[in-house]
Amino acid sequence: MNEIVLKEKDIKQLCECLFQRMRPWLSKQSDRKVWGVPRGGIPVAYRIASIINGTVVDNLADANIIVDDIICTGKTRDKIDDILYSKHNKKLEHDVYFDALIYKPSEGEWYVFPWEGSRLNSIEDVPLRMLEYIGEDPKRDGLIDTPKRIVKSWDFLFSGYNVDVSSLFTTFENDGQYDQMVILKDIEFYSMCEHHALPFFGKVHIAYLPSEKIVGVSKLARVVEAYSRRLQVQERLTEQVATALDVYLKPKGVAVYIEAQHLCMVARGVQKQNSVMVTSSLKGQFRQDESRMEFLLLSRR
Ligand SMILES: [Zn+2]
Repeated sequence: MNEIVLKEKDIKQLCECLFQRMRPWLSKQSDRKVWGVPRGGIPVAYRIASIINGTVVDNLADANIIVDDIICTGKTRDKIDDILYSKHNKKLEHDVYFDALIYKPSEGEWYVFPWEGSRLNSIEDVPLRMLEYIGEDPKRDGLIDTPKRIVKSWDFLFSGYNVDVSSLFTTFENDGQYDQMVILKDIEFYSMCEHHALPFFGKVHIAYLPSEKIVGVSKLARVVEAYSRRLQVQERLTEQVATALDVYLKPKGVAVYIEAQHLCMVARGVQKQNSVMVTSSLKGQFRQDESRMEFLLLSRR
């Protein structure tokens, strides 16, 4: 993540650009009522209002200019457009001008505005607001450090993004020309489903038929770790582990079999307490029935 810390002079410049874009609109307006999208848009509203000789208004409905600090996905804009139209019969662009200091930043760019403090502080704001959202008081004793702890645990739970999987394959020559199946069973893993950011966890069983190279068993576990410590779906996790082995080890065949429980199924929604999801990926010789059956039987015990 490329962190871009904006200074006062950058904000001044961005406000100036925003003002220039707004100019055609301003020429048609005698009234200049500015509303800032909470919370980041509020300091922008005050700055812009002073540049254009406008006033900051408390309610969205009273504004003919709406500003935000940053537009990432356009979701906020759509929501505002919706509210304006359904409740006040106004349309963005037509009745109300909408803009932001930064429009759709490139992937991997993280902007920190002067009113946000450091990136760490601003990221801790997110779980804090989620605590408020569920009806908690983030200032009570037990919760004071919880946002910090959540961010820290995310650093760990999603540490897989920082691992270069190709670097895990320190392989050895297959001297003895071992040509039977190598199996590593019951590799425990914990991952997070990308639909709910809830854990899914269970066991991975890996088998491969060596060709020229073999790999240390601990490395297999680390490949699982690298891919599971990300936002995942079980199907992709299975496929990624199998593909990594296929590409970097070039075995005659590889099979990956994962059984897992998904908290998003167990703890919410359908509440199927004991359901286990099973996925497998078979490559090379494992596509042939005999070795496939052998692997499935062995990994199931
Ligand atoms: Zn889920």
